[in-house]
Order: sequence, then structure tokens, then C-alpha cells
Amino acid sequence: MQSIRLSRRKTMAGAGALAATAALGLPAVPPAQAQTPAGGQAPGFYRYKVGDITLTAINDGFAKRPLEGFVRNAELSDVKKAMAGAFLSQDALNITFTTLAIQQGGKLTLIDTGNGDSGAPTSGTWMANFRAAGFDPKDVSTVIFSHFHGDHINGFRLKNGTAVFPNAEAMVPSAEWAFWMDDAKMNAAPEAMKGAFAGVRRVFGPVAKDVRQFEPGKEILPGITPIAAPGHTPGHTVFALSSGDSRMMIMSDTTNHPALFVRNPDWSAVFDMDGPQAAATRRKLLDMVSADRMQVAFYHAPFPATGFIAKDGNGFEMVPVQWSPAI
Ligand SMILES: [Zn+2]
Repeated sequence: MQSIRLSRRKTMAGAGALAATAALGLPAVPPAQAQTPAGGQAPGFYRYKVGDITLTAINDGFAKRPLEGFVRNAELSDVKKAMAGAFLSQDALNITFTTLAIQQGGKLTLIDTGNGDSGAPTSGTWMANFRAAGFDPKDVSTVIFSHFHGDHINGFRLKNGTAVFPNAEAMVPSAEWAFWMDDAKMNAAPEAMKGAFAGVRRVFGPVAKDVRQFEPGKEILPGITPIAAPGHTPGHTVFALSSGDSRMMIMSDTTNHPALFVRNPDWSAVFDMDGPQAAATRRKLLDMVSADRMQVAFYHAPFPATGFIAKDGNGFEMVPVQWSPAI
């Protein structure tokens, strides 16, 4: 059968190419495998190491955000200028989402979970990417949350109530839990924020008694130490990662897109609940990681969302890592 098919293709495709393929001992690639999915990329995950810890950055797509009103304390013209300086659109920002999976000592830990099935239609690619990276949700033993905004927690529970990581323990910053689970705070919140409070209860309500709260400054898992980084939310947390001589700072939402907020650390995105406090936290952390030449990861930086911070005038610049084929 095969020889008949080959001889037919020979007539159609030309003998030369086939003869060359055969001479090199290469199998003919079926057309279906040679194509990339329509309009898509290769799966969005990227592995790297910090000492003995293996990190996998996992992308959850993006959400388009109009620039108008996005930065609270800057003129739209200055925001557009910053976007143009980074060769980005003048109309809208594609805010990307990148979580981290951490492997060490045979355990799989996540930091934040993406949007699940609750985000923009251009998001929600997390699970496919997570699986493409070779992981299974039931192998996750711990999920650590940086803060309780929907794009970080909704992946923990589907809209229909299903727990996405059936064997995982949730670890949360105690200050974040205290704020969002406080009914008085929810009742006093402006109407626009009530949905965020409801979302936190939807995600964590069914496991509330099992959630483990942590305090900043104390190692919570080997090599993972939370550091209070308030402003974006009251309990917003970043994580110092260390293994042997290697260190990295997981910066969570200390900045939104680096082209805007690493460049201009005093700017506040609308999502910063306390703008001045968020800016002070941002400056302090950016100063520290640039002085220490420490690798960083940001949740909303361009994929794979990891690099270094260089001081640049009154602001900073994010320098991405060089893509490496080996981890
Ligand atoms: Zn976020």
C-alpha cells in the first residue's frame, strides 16, 4: 500500500524532494503534524532554574485593557508616550498572565492560578499550557496565593464549583484573608468592588477552614519566604526564592506592565487599591532587586515574565532573560 501511495505522490510532488528525504533517512512528515494550530502559538510554558528549584512559567493568555483611565496619576498623553517608547499599541494594553509552578523535593507547588473559566475570552489557556508542560492538576500539593484579585485566584475553582487541584492545600497571606473575608469591609466597599469580595468567597468559601494563612518574613516551604508588599491590595505579597547560592524575587503585582510601571515606578494602575503605598512598595523592591542584581518574575510582564531590573534615570528598566533551550 505504502509503495503505491508513495509512487502516486512522487508523480504529484516531484521526485527530487522525496528522493532527498529518503536519502537522509528522514520520515515524510504528515501534513497534519507540520501545521501549527490555526492562529496559535506553541504551548506557553518556559522552564528555568534557581539553584535546585525548577520553575515553570505558565501563560494564561491576556486581557485587553483600554489605556484611557488605566494609570490613575498620569496624563493619557504620557502613558501613550511610554507605550510608543516600548513599541506597543497606543490604544490598548494586552495584560498578560503568567503563573509559576515550582518543583523541588518531589513536590509541585503553584504560585497563583490564573483566571480559570472566569476571565476574558482571550485568557483561560492556563490548563492546556500546564498540561503541555507535563503536569497534572492532581499532582499539585500546595497553591500559594500572592493576593486575592480574580486573575490570581479564579483558576483555583471553576464557575460550577469544581476544585481544580483536588489534592492541594491553599496557603494565603493572613493580611489578605483578614481584609477580603471581613463582612464589614465587604458591606462598606463601593459597589464596583463588591464583586471582588464575592469572588474571593466563591473561590475559598468551600475550603475556608482548611486554608493555611501565613505571615510575612518566615519561610513557608523550603526556600520560599513571603515578604509583605502592600498597596496593590492590603495583603499583597512577594516571595523570595532561595536555593544554595541562587536567589530570585517573585514580584507578583508589584508592577503591572513593566513598560509603564517599571519605567515609571510612581505611576499607579487602577488596580492598585492604595496608590501611594503601592508606589512606595514598588520603589523599595525595584531598588533592592536592581542593587542586588537579583532575577525577578512578574505576573504581568511579557512572557516568560522573568528577567532583571536595571536602574535607569529616575526609573528602572526590565531586561528579559535570554531564552535558553536547556534549563
Ligand atoms: Zn494581577
